[in-house]
This record gives sequence, C-alpha cells and structure tokens, in this order.
Amino acid sequence: MSVHATTERAALRLATTLLALGTLAACSTTASVGGAPSIGTSSAITVDDLRARLYAYAADSMMGRDAPGPWNDKATDYIAGEMRRLGLEPAGENGTYFQSVLITQTLDVAASSITVDGQTFRANTDFLPRWQAPVMRSIAGAQVVHGGTWGSANTMVDPAQTAGKVVLFLVPPQPNGQPGWQANRAALTQRYANAAGIVVASLDAMPAETRAELGAATPALRGQQMPPTMSALPQFFYVTGAAARAMLGGDPAGMQMGATGRTVGGSIVFRETAAQARNVVAVLRGSDPALRNTYVAVGSHNDHVGFNRTPVDHDSLRAFNAVVRPGGADNPARAATPDEMTRVRAILDSLRRIRPARPDSIFNGADDDGSGTIAMIEIAEAMAAGPRPKRSILFVFHTAEEDGLLGAAYYAEHSTVPRDSIVAMVNMDMIGRGAATDLPGGRPGYVQLIGSRRLSTQLGDLVEAVNARRPESARLFFDYQYDANGHPQQYYCRSDHYHYARFGIPVVFLSAGGHRDYHQVTDEPQYIEYDSFHRVTTYLHELIGELGNRTSRVVVDKPKQDPNAQCRQ
Ligand SMILES: [Zn+2]
Repeated sequence: MSVHATTERAALRLATTLLALGTLAACSTTASVGGAPSIGTSSAITVDDLRARLYAYAADSMMGRDAPGPWNDKATDYIAGEMRRLGLEPAGENGTYFQSVLITQTLDVAASSITVDGQTFRANTDFLPRWQAPVMRSIAGAQVVHGGTWGSANTMVDPAQTAGKVVLFLVPPQPNGQPGWQANRAALTQRYANAAGIVVASLDAMPAETRAELGAATPALRGQQMPPTMSALPQFFYVTGAAARAMLGGDPAGMQMGATGRTVGGSIVFRETAAQARNVVAVLRGSDPALRNTYVAVGSHNDHVGFNRTPVDHDSLRAFNAVVRPGGADNPARAATPDEMTRVRAILDSLRRIRPARPDSIFNGADDDGSGTIAMIEIAEAMAAGPRPKRSILFVFHTAEEDGLLGAAYYAEHSTVPRDSIVAMVNMDMIGRGAATDLPGGRPGYVQLIGSRRLSTQLGDLVEAVNARRPESARLFFDYQYDANGHPQQYYCRSDHYHYARFGIPVVFLSAGGHRDYHQVTDEPQYIEYDSFHRVTTYLHELIGELGNRTSRVVVDKPKQDPNAQCRQ
C-alpha cells in the first residue's frame, strides 16, 4: 500500500538509498534468494510454503526492495526465476518476464543557470530545481512577482496575478523559531499551474542532507506524456536569500505580496537516464482455445520502501507504535504522553526479558507487499500443476507502487496483452495480518474488500459466492467499510488495481488491513498471521480460478470513469 500523496517524499527516499549504498551493512540472518536455487515448495498452497517463501522474499538481504535501485532488480530476479521454473510464459518486453517502468530525471548542473541584471546564479549552489513534468515552461524573459508567504490563501498571492510570471514565496519560521524551509510543492504547483516558475526562498535554511537528497535525481515514468488537459507545468526551484533579493530587486521581507521584481533569464535542463525498476509479467496460458487469448489479471507489488541510513532499536519502535501509532505510518508521528510512555516501557521491559536489543534499518515489507507477492507465486505454482483455467491468467508483479502506483500506471498504459482482453483484475496488497491485535474487527480470515462492486455488480456477487461455498473454517470475513465513497483512508486510490479500473476493467482489491508495522522497519515475517494468510491465499486461488473458468465476462453495469480524471474514493 502506498502512502497518501506527500510532497518530496519519493525523491527523498531515492536519494537516501543512493547515498547509503556501500556504507550500510545488511545484518541478515536469512539466506539470500536472488539468483539462488529456489526454495523447495510443493505445488499445493501450504502454510509452510507461504512462510518459507516470505522469509526469503522479506529477508534483510533484499534491503527493502526499493524502486528504482539494485535491490528492486534483485527482488524481481527472484520472481522471474520462479515464473520460469513454474513454466509460465514470459509476458513482459522483448520476450522477457520484465517490463522496465522508470527513468530518472537528473539536473544538468553545467547547463542550468539563472541570470538577473547581468548576474549569474548557479544550479545546486544558488538555486535548487526540482523536476516536475515532461514539459516545463521556460523562465527566460519572465517577470518575478512576490508571492507572499507559503501557508494559506490569505498569505499567498492571487493565482490570477501570476500567469506567465515567476512567483517567489517566503517560508514562515518553524514552531521552534528556526528558519523554515518546507513548502508543499504539489500544492503550490496545483495552485499556480499557469506560472512560468515557482520559487521558494528557503535554500539557506534547508538542511545540507536534504539539499543533497533533493538535488540527486527524481524517478519518473518511462515515456511519460503530459496529460491531455495541460501542455506544461511551471518550473519549481528553491533559491538562496541572495538570489531572492536579486530576483525581486529588494529584500522580500520588506516588500508587499504582489509586488513585481526583475525579469529573469537562463534555463534549467534535466537529463533522462534509465532506472532499475521492473514489473514482472507472466502468463499461465488457458486451456480453452476460444478463451485463452483473454485474461484474468492478478496483481501485487514487488517493491517496498528501502532502508534508513540510521538504525533504530526494533523493539523500542514496535512498543512505541503499539501504543502511539497503532496504524504505523498511517498515524501521524507524535510524542507519547507520560501515561502512554509508561505503557510503552512495560511492553519494552517484557521484550527485553526475552531478547536483547536489535538495531534495525531495513524496511522488510513482509506484509507490504511481500504477502501479496508470495501469494501470487504460490497461486501460480498451484495453477501450473493443473488443471488450468479456460482463460489465461496474467500475473503482474508491479514495481514502484510505493512511489505512487507507478508500475501499475505504466502497465495499464502499456499493457503487454490487449487491454480489452483483460476481463477482470484481482489485486492483493497486505494480506498477511488482520489479527484482532492489528486492528478493530480483526480475526482469522479478516479481509477488507475494496472496489468489487464499483464497476460490476456481478463481480461483487461472485466474490461473495466463492467465499460462501467454502467450508466454514476456511471462510473469509469481508469488511466493506473502507470501500465507502469518500472514506478518508482512500484505500481505493492507494493500490495498483486503481489503474486498471481507470480503463473500465472490473477490479477487486483484498487487504487484511493496516497495523502498527505499516511502513516501519518492523514489518517483518515473524509478525505475519500465517493461518489467516493461507486462508486468504487459498480463497484467492479459488476466486481467480472461478473468473478464469467462467465462459462469459463479468458484466460492467456501472458507469466507467474518465481515465484521465483524478482518483475519487
Ligand atoms: Zn506500502
């Protein structure tokens, strides 16, 4: 599951990964699997197989599987190796199991400069640009306007005054009185979409580490086009106080919001390079000659969020989150109250009695989405053993989900089978938990069901019917509350199925829900509920088989959305 959209996050993590490579040793206790012989598993879906595979896939040696980067290649090598071993057809690019999804955009420092009144400002020294879109406006010849102070509509200039201009913002001090540097790039870009450039005058206050991170590189979709509704986005860059004064022709702190400044020249140039981020795509060919060129798509995501440069104590973090952040990164970071701290200490003391402290820096992503990835491999293994469904099963292990569903966005735009030959899409993300201690309502077989009736009533009914015919001990408990229109958690917009639904493909998304380890270094295989994980996986196997054996497609009886519109939960 990806996080809510936030500013600057993806680039921060990417840069963190690049900086830390080679300086941080992995403290693995589990054997590496990338390129190694496969684990001995049976064709049946068993608790032991799920556990053995997940311990390998979420091992520290995978370093958090972040995309783009070498660890995403390692993870996807393992998946492709299993698809080959199981005899599935490669269905990526050029006869391989892989589809390359990302490029990185890197600033050409030598070719980028800004000039004002004959003075030249240097990239990454006087100003720090951010890549925004495949087409960004030129700032050459644009006049600078004082945009006010980043914050609310009251403190910022009317966007009507900034079309074609370079609009410069100040940042308010931090609560502790230190100079502030953060402004929301996405929000500013949306509000001032018609400006030539957006400038935030906070480079002097930006921490050196952040400065290096933001200057490193930005991942972006390969071959990305501008959306049909817009031709270009404004440039965005941070500047030093000296550059800001030159651009406005005076001290910004002493000038009125809306005041006009100088005319700027120069250009900002980004270069594109290939990035290591791959979808793995494999087909289990169907048995029916009339139906085998249609597909049931099955999806999960192969990436997670990498690793930190600074380790934390695993048990302290987990005890703290149990009390203060039971939803992990879905809950805001805050300090514990004294009463909460007492409870945290009690948990930690009990853990210290059974094991020593352990520093941890790797986001293993055992549940997110090691669980979905491993479930798909086990389902592929079971189906490959036969009998095969009538329709073909299209297994898509998406990359860069955590960067904003990029692998799925790319696959939906560049599907390697005709898009209208995909009859339905089944997505699984975080299906290994759902215990009573994880979230309210949790129990063995607990599943949050999302999207199943948004396009097709028939699909929603089928999802229920397959469950109802299972023996009571194997039945799932569907929780529909997160599927409600406008639900604040936005799960419908936060995993890969959304990009299939955009194009009118009926989708169903299963997740066992959030927990204290969500997007924390503590999302490890020993905290998975293997019996429940097995129950969900065997159910998915049946559901996918049922969809594959139906001779008619599930009927789309609800309105399709505009594929270019913003996702609405
Ligand atoms: Zn996630």
